[in-house]
Formats: sequence, C-alpha cells, structure tokens
Amino acid sequence: MSRTLQLAEQLISRPSVTPDDAGCQQILGERLAPLGFTLETIESGPADFRVTNLWAVRRPAAATATKTLVFAGHTDVVPTGPFEQWTSHPFTPTHRGGKLYGRGACDMKTSVAAFVISIEEFLRATPDPKLTLALLLTSDEEGPAVDGTVVVCNTLAARGEVLDYCIVGEPTAVERCGDMIKNGRRGTMSGKLTVKGVQGHIAYPHLAKNPVHAVAPALAELVAINAAAGWDAGNAYFQPTSWQISNFHSGTGASNVIPGSAVIDFNFRFSTESTPESLQKRVHAVLDAHGIDYTLAWTIGGLPFLTTPGELVSSVQAAIVDETGIATELSTSGGTSDARFIAKICKQVVELGPVNASIHKIDEHIDVAEIETLKNIYRRTMERLEASLSR
Ligand SMILES: [Zn+2]
Repeated sequence: MSRTLQLAEQLISRPSVTPDDAGCQQILGERLAPLGFTLETIESGPADFRVTNLWAVRRPAAATATKTLVFAGHTDVVPTGPFEQWTSHPFTPTHRGGKLYGRGACDMKTSVAAFVISIEEFLRATPDPKLTLALLLTSDEEGPAVDGTVVVCNTLAARGEVLDYCIVGEPTAVERCGDMIKNGRRGTMSGKLTVKGVQGHIAYPHLAKNPVHAVAPALAELVAINAAAGWDAGNAYFQPTSWQISNFHSGTGASNVIPGSAVIDFNFRFSTESTPESLQKRVHAVLDAHGIDYTLAWTIGGLPFLTTPGELVSSVQAAIVDETGIATELSTSGGTSDARFIAKICKQVVELGPVNASIHKIDEHIDVAEIETLKNIYRRTMERLEASLSR
C-alpha cells in the first residue's frame, strides 16, 4: 500500500469538521519532526470555535542562500450531510472500483498527505537541501477563515519571515491530476443595497413612494453593464469582472400595499483590472443618477491575486509534464481560497491538487491512481526548485 494512501486514510479517519482538527496536525507533526522540522502550533479564536494552525519549517543546516517553499492547506473538512446518504461511512476510508471514498479524500487530506510523503522522499534523496521547506496548515479553511491561515500569515509577517514560493493543495484538476492549476483567484465583494420608499395603499399611489419602481431602472443599467462586460474586459489571466444579484426582498405579502423599502444583495467577482474602489464608485454613480434614496453597505471578501509565470509556475508546469505528459492549463476561475491571504506575504503562489468534481458532496472520492501522481508532482517541483538554487 502506498505510504501517501496510508497517511491519507489515517487523516480521513479523523472527523475533523471545521474548526476541529481532531488530531490531524499532531499526526503530521510526528512525521515532520524527525525530518528536521521545527513545529509551532498557533491556536486562535474563541473557546467555542477554537482553531488549530500548524507552522512547520525546516531550514538548511548551514548558512546558505536559500529560498522558502511553503506547502499550504487545511485539515478541516465540510460537514458530511446525512450519514445514511453515503454509500460507506464518511470517516471510514473505503475503496470501491479503484477509488478512495471519505470526507476530505479530495478536499484536501490527500494533498496534505502528499505534501508530507513527497517531502520525505525529497529529503531521502537530498538530505541537506538549500531549499527551506515549510508547511502551513489550518483547521479553519472551510469555515469563517478568520482564525486560520490569515492569523499565521500575520504572525509570519510580523516576524519579517520571507516566503518565496507557495503551493496550496486545493483540488484544482478537472479530469486528471495536473490538467489545471490556479495561478490566481478573483476578488469577491458584496453589497447590501437598501432602497427607501414610502409604504401606502396601492389605490392611492400619489400618497406613497414605490422603492421597487425607483430602483428597477438603475438595476437594469447595472445588468446592462454586466452583460456587456463593461466593468472591465479581464486580461490574459482573468475573465471579465462579473456582477450578480443574489437576493431581492420587498413587499409585505399583501397585494394591495406598496412596499416601504427594498433590499437587494449583490456580489462582484472581480479581476485585477478593477479595484473595490473603482467598482463601488461606478455603482454609486448609477444609483445617484437615478435619484434613488438608498443606503449601501459593502463587504470585501477577498482581493484578487495573480502569480505571473516565473520560477514557481515554470517548475510546477515542468514537474507536471515530467510526471503526466500534460501541458497544464493556468486558470484563475472558481471561488476564493486561503491563497488570498498567503499571496500578501508570498510573491509566487499556485494551487495544485486533485480532481475537484466530488468535493463537498456526498460520497466524496479520489482516484487511487492519482494519489501517487500528485505526490510525485510535488516532489518533482521541489527537485526543480532545489536545482535552480544550486545553479
Ligand atoms: Zn479545500
């Protein structure tokens, strides 16, 4: 049985639903300490939502020109949903038809296991590397993510720790491990728009003010900007910025009452061609031009990040070709991840992990054959970065 598979199964057996790490990081720490890693557990959050984070680092023995490669990920998993809907118990790793089933099989306990085993293999062949190796793990990626990776990043930033490369093990592949990696993510920003009107009898509209009628033309204008990709055109790495209404609430439920207010929630997924300020300014301009009486509360969920092709991207691309023959696709699609926090203290960040088709679902699973592939891609990337340091 492959050692990566064995470790992945050990982790899947732990019911580590956010924010409970359920002992996963201890298992990993026990593998890393004998390899020369210094372990630091950073707990954060209130007593009823305590998050466990692990920062493990292995520096070269002798003073040398080094660069730091961080493997980042999470030991927590999303809730299982009803056990009876699973074919086998979500926390009992089970094999069927060449696949390993269990919560976290894809997102992302196999990646975490592959981090550790690839490092073990790398250090066996290169016992004294110039590369500084580190792991950054959290038990709060799937939850609010306020006491997880961001806390570790802030701690490292305060110490002046320099990170050069980071591989986040999120499941990025579409059909086969290695076919897609993320070299950036869009930003996310939400707005809650409250339009004020005057409630009244439908039969006496001159005594009322209908907020839905007031806001409708402005929304039509915003929709038109969106349809024309008019926020920005995107760029070589990003799709155009997208704006979507997620909720629209108004009315009392009665058919003879003009509502007193309307509340509209919307969200931007934005590229590096726009900023929160530029988007906010345009939305306000449209609303103001229509003379609407409103308040608007903004929440920035995450800024976009982009790693342009360089040492890390080319090493990962080459490692994938060597292992699988695939010319990987660079993408910035999908939701946000903890990479948005790491990108603030690390110039080159990519996400590379297994096929994401079954993540967060009932009967989450991974192809067993892909587990070795992923581990080998990680190891080959380390070998390439080490070789570039020795050049
Ligand atoms: Zn994940």
